[in-house]
Amino acid sequence: MQREPDFTQLKIRQMEERCRESGLAITVQRRVIIEALSERSDHPSADQLYEAVRGRLRGISRTTVYRVLETLVGIGVVQKISNPEAKARFDADTVRHHHLYCSRCQKIQDLSDPALDTIVLPTAGLGGFAITDFSINFSGLCPACRSFQSP
Ligand SMILES: [Zn+2]
Ligand SMILES: [Zn+2]
Repeated sequence: MQREPDFTQLKIRQMEERCRESGLAITVQRRVIIEALSERSDHPSADQLYEAVRGRLRGISRTTVYRVLETLVGIGVVQKISNPEAKARFDADTVRHHHLYCSRCQKIQDLSDPALDTIVLPTAGLGGFAITDFSINFSGLCPACRSFQSP
């Protein structure tokens, strides 16, 4: 899924708004991290983001990046996406979409398909649970890994 050209600006504005609503300061760390995350669509881990912002913000620590990401998830401007790895992966796109996970190189691609948004949600076996949203993860092999595997 291609990012809108002004996606980063939109996310920065959204982050500033949500921080204000939640009484949080708009720190340069929060700004740089939301900027770095919204510029990419590869669903990086916290460590990968740390590598990306290290050069932009002298002295930023890995711990700060982890903490800022948790805050951004908490105020709903970033989502943590479920994947088969132990490591959390992050996405600046919080509008419902689905993911293709490559089980060989761990690449995560976005997938939007209107047909998936209209699936019939389960009603049995929920034990009183109320579903409010869902997203679907597909595992498989990306094109690069497929060509690597076939002779
Ligand atoms: Zn792959
Ligand atoms: Zn995504």
